[in-house]
Amino acid sequence: MLASALGVDEDAASARLEGRILVTAGERASCADWAREICDLLDRTMSVTRDPADDVKVELVVGDAVPRSDAKRLYARIDASKAVIGLEPPKVASTEPHPLFAAIAACSAAAATLSLAIDAEELPKVGLPITVPFDQLGISREALDASIDLDGAALIGAGAVGNAFLRALRHVDARGTLPIVDPKAVGGGNPNRCLYFTEADVEHPKAETLARNASPDFPHVALIPFNGNFHDYVAKNGPHRTAIVTVDSRRVRRAIQAEVPGRVFDASTTDIRAVVVHSHRQPTANACLSCIYRHVPDEQARERAIAGGLGISLDMVRESLISADAAALIAGAHAGIQAAAIEGMAYDSLFKQLCAEQALKSAEGKQVLAPFAFVSALAGNLLVVEMLRVQTGQADTNYWQVDPWGSPIGKLRSCRPRIVDCEFCSIPHFVAIADQLWREKSEAA
Ligand SMILES: [Zn+2]
Repeated sequence: MLASALGVDEDAASARLEGRILVTAGERASCADWAREICDLLDRTMSVTRDPADDVKVELVVGDAVPRSDAKRLYARIDASKAVIGLEPPKVASTEPHPLFAAIAACSAAAATLSLAIDAEELPKVGLPITVPFDQLGISREALDASIDLDGAALIGAGAVGNAFLRALRHVDARGTLPIVDPKAVGGGNPNRCLYFTEADVEHPKAETLARNASPDFPHVALIPFNGNFHDYVAKNGPHRTAIVTVDSRRVRRAIQAEVPGRVFDASTTDIRAVVVHSHRQPTANACLSCIYRHVPDEQARERAIAGGLGISLDMVRESLISADAAALIAGAHAGIQAAAIEGMAYDSLFKQLCAEQALKSAEGKQVLAPFAFVSALAGNLLVVEMLRVQTGQADTNYWQVDPWGSPIGKLRSCRPRIVDCEFCSIPHFVAIADQLWREKSEAA
């Protein structure tokens, strides 16, 4: 898979697909807001137009608007308790959704629209109509009005899910100081999935860029960039109470667990097919971050595929970030890649950019890698939901896997146990530190 993906040159990788989506929105203010939220997600994958005179592949009719084209048509409607996206105009009440619920439903609307517009066998199947009942999200409408106090928390990872987390957080009352921890620079393919990044941000430090670009959305939050990894951050600032984890790799997640944060909120994407949300508080008898993202043979295979595909050693891949030497080696072996463009990037990010984004054939039969911003967006939204659930005492589970191409199913939430050979929980020394650092604090809280 990687070898074929490397056949794609850098310009074609993460390129928007051809064709346009016409968006027609009803006049209600909440409807226009929802349409804008959906457009922001679609726009990273295909061009969006509001002009019916354009040549369009699919028209998305949001709210009670009248369709304006003869193109294939999809209807998306939303009320306070649900959103429905289907081929016929669905019936909904005339109540207003909470903007965070609307942001979550925007991901489903984007999935359905792209599925219809791209119509490719490689994509997961979408069963229409998609209904998103907000009660499946496991949080009451009232709990969304609670303030989130960010003091003592750090956002680790300023990539697609980190961006999406802040995009979601702007819909609730967040307060305090939030460090953003990321050692990398914005890569060429990043703006396609990172909603706060633009082409002008490429090569600038991710943490600084995200803090700067997201700040206008947060009148009560100070976003403080830290250009380094979580280990450096903890070395400088001491043990950390709350880690909001949005990094790309399983290995880096386990390294974060080894820093023994008191509380973890984590969200990840498994290519474009699944979103996983995990949270726990130390000391815990149940799964930690390293249990959830334990070292799996699949991961070794993935590292071997990266090493083999890029023509570098396995040890280099395990360094997590692409060093100058590795970048030169990779560039030497692959005509389409420039060393400067990939130095400092995470191997997992490069892997995602090159092959985990869905490989699709363009109209001319060329292979293109389509970015699906809505998948990361869903992960970011569900992370905010998880923080609010925990804060308002509505969470008794630590794991949830959601299909971004379908409806969220609340019953799939579970409480994952520790695994026997966890590289954190199975080491008495680590468990003792977690206990010593956080037991009293968690009992006092
Ligand atoms: Zn563990």
